[in-house]
Amino acid sequence: MSDSCIFCKIARGEIPSYKVYEDDVVLAFLDVNPSSRGHTLVVPKEHFDDMTKCPKDILDHCFEVAQLIAQAQIKELGATGANVLTNIGKSAGQSVRHFHIHVIPRYDNDGLKLAFPPKQLEDKEMLLIQDSISKGL
Ligand code: AMP
Repeated sequence: MSDSCIFCKIARGEIPSYKVYEDDVVLAFLDVNPSSRGHTLVVPKEHFDDMTKCPKDILDHCFEVAQLIAQAQIKELGATGANVLTNIGKSAGQSVRHFHIHVIPRYDNDGLKLAFPPKQLEDKEMLLIQDSISKGL
């Protein structure tokens, strides 16, 4: 737990949240600045800076809960899909340094754009990248 971390404070009940799920390990609550109706954050109660720092058993459980949340958004809010994502680090847009999964319900023609503009890389560069990532596993 971190004294200054806002999600740790939510997990400790020191800051109010629109909680939708809680167990011993994981908490899920509505994002205060939702990108769509029902945008929910799934967080481990224990503090890990980001996904790369989270132990596997807790990570697995967080994603299990994210699946449940997406199912509930589809069943109860009429969502027709969802984006499930986590930001790792400032360069990826992470603003709260406590691992969290965004579960963003999507609706037909909701106009929300999560942009991943395509880049073309040469085959040689693709092979180098393939090799580097494989080596790092
Ligand atoms: P990220 O940019 O991936 O770190 O996402 C952090 C998210 O946390 C943003 O979407 C914020 O709107 C959300 N957020 C920040 N403070 C709170 C809070 N007190 N309660 C709920 N959501 C929050």
